[in-house]
Amino acid sequence: HDQLQGYDDALLAAIQAEEQRQEDHIELIASENYCSQRVMQAQGSGLTNKYAEGYPGKRYYGGCEHVDKVEALAIERAKQLFGADYANVQPHSGSSANSAVYLALLNAGDTILGMSLAHGGHLTHGAKVSSSGKLYNAVQYGIDENGLIDYDEVERLAIEHKPKMIVAGFSAYSRVLDFPRFRAIADKVGALLFVDMAHVAGLVAAGLYPNPVPFADVVTTTTHKTLRGPRGGLILARKNEEIEKKLNSAVFPGAQGGPLMHVIAAKAVCFKEALEPGFKAYQQQVIDNARAMAEVFVERGYDVVSGGTDNHLMLISLVKQGLTGKAADAALGDAHITVNKNAVPNDPQSPFVTSGIRIGTPAVTTRGFKEGECRTLAGWICDILDDLDNPAVIERVRSQVADLCATFPVYAD
Ligand code: PLP
Repeated sequence: HDQLQGYDDALLAAIQAEEQRQEDHIELIASENYCSQRVMQAQGSGLTNKYAEGYPGKRYYGGCEHVDKVEALAIERAKQLFGADYANVQPHSGSSANSAVYLALLNAGDTILGMSLAHGGHLTHGAKVSSSGKLYNAVQYGIDENGLIDYDEVERLAIEHKPKMIVAGFSAYSRVLDFPRFRAIADKVGALLFVDMAHVAGLVAAGLYPNPVPFADVVTTTTHKTLRGPRGGLILARKNEEIEKKLNSAVFPGAQGGPLMHVIAAKAVCFKEALEPGFKAYQQQVIDNARAMAEVFVERGYDVVSGGTDNHLMLISLVKQGLTGKAADAALGDAHITVNKNAVPNDPQSPFVTSGIRIGTPAVTTRGFKEGECRTLAGWICDILDDLDNPAVIERVRSQVADLCATFPVYAD
C-alpha cells in the first residue's frame, strides 16, 4: 500500500484494519473465502482502465486486442472447469448474472418457481424485495420439517403454477441437490431449469458435488465463494445457440455496460488455480472440516438442520436452547469468531432476529485448518452458546482464537 501511505492515510488505516481483522478473526461466513495474492494482483492491474463493451473480437471500442486475450482465456478455462460449451465471464456479481438470465429467458410477469429466502434460497430466486420478485410472478418452495427440500412439493407447485422457469440453488442448504429430479419436474411442466450453484461452485469444479451443467438450461455462479476467486459472477450453458445469443445480449447491452476487465483477468487466474490438482484436495478438506464441526455440534446437543452436512456449510438451530441467532452471532463476534444469524425451519423469530446461525468452512480451510482445529473451534462455539451471558468464556475463547489465528496466518508471505 505504499502509494496510499502519506496520501490518504484515513483510507489506508481502514483498509489495513480490515486486512488485520481478516487475519485475527476466524471467518465462518459460508459465502466468504480468502482469494490468492495472484488473484488480487490481476484484479489490481491496469486492466481497470480499459473499456471493452461487447465480446472478444466484437467490441465497440478500439485497443481491445490484449483484453480480448484475457477474456478468451477466462472463457476457455471456465468452460473446461465445468464441462460447459458456453461461458459468459462478464457479470459483475452473482445477482447481476441472475438478473441477466431472467432478462434473457423471461418476459415481465412470467412465473418462476424458486426456493424461498426463509428456507435457504437467495434473494434473487424470487424474494419480494428483489427485482426477481417484483418483475416476475415468483412462486416459492421450501424445506420440510426435516430440513430437506420437499421435491414432491416442488412438483406439485410446478404442476399447479406452470412456471416458465424453475430455479434450483441455495445460500443455506447443507445437502446435495437432486438435479435429475429438478430436470424431470421441469420437463414435466415444460419449464426451463436454471441452477444457481454459487455456494457450491468450488465443490463442483473439484468433482465433489454433482455438476448441474448437464441438467440445466443455464447455470450461474459467483466466483468468490467456495471457488475462491475475485468477487464476481459467471454464466454457463451447454450448446444452444439461441440461448447463448439471448444470454450474451442480456448481459451486454441488456443489463451492464463495460465489463470489468481487471476482474475478468482475476477470474481467469481463479479458474487456472481451480484446474490444478491441489484444488480438489482443498475442497475435500472443506467438506471434511464441515463434517467434523457438525459432529461436535451434535455431540454437544445442538441441532444441525437436516442432521448434518454434505457440503461446506451447516445451519445450527438454537430453538431448543431458546437462543436467538442475533444474540449468538453477537457473542461469537465478541470472541472474534464471525458467523451470520440465519432463519431455521419454522423459525419462531423474525428474519432480523432468527433462531439459528450459518457456519461454513471454506475460509478456515484456506488458512490451513484441518479436522483437529475445526473440532476444537466447534467446541469453543458450543462453550459460548452453552453460557451465552458469561463474559469470562468469551474472553477465554477470544484469547484461544488469537493463538490459533497466529498459528495459521492467511497471507503468510
Ligand atoms: N446466488 C446465491 C445462491 C448466493 O448465495 C449469492 C450470494 O450470497 C448470490 C447469488 C449473489 O451474489 P452477489 O452477492 O455476488 O450478487
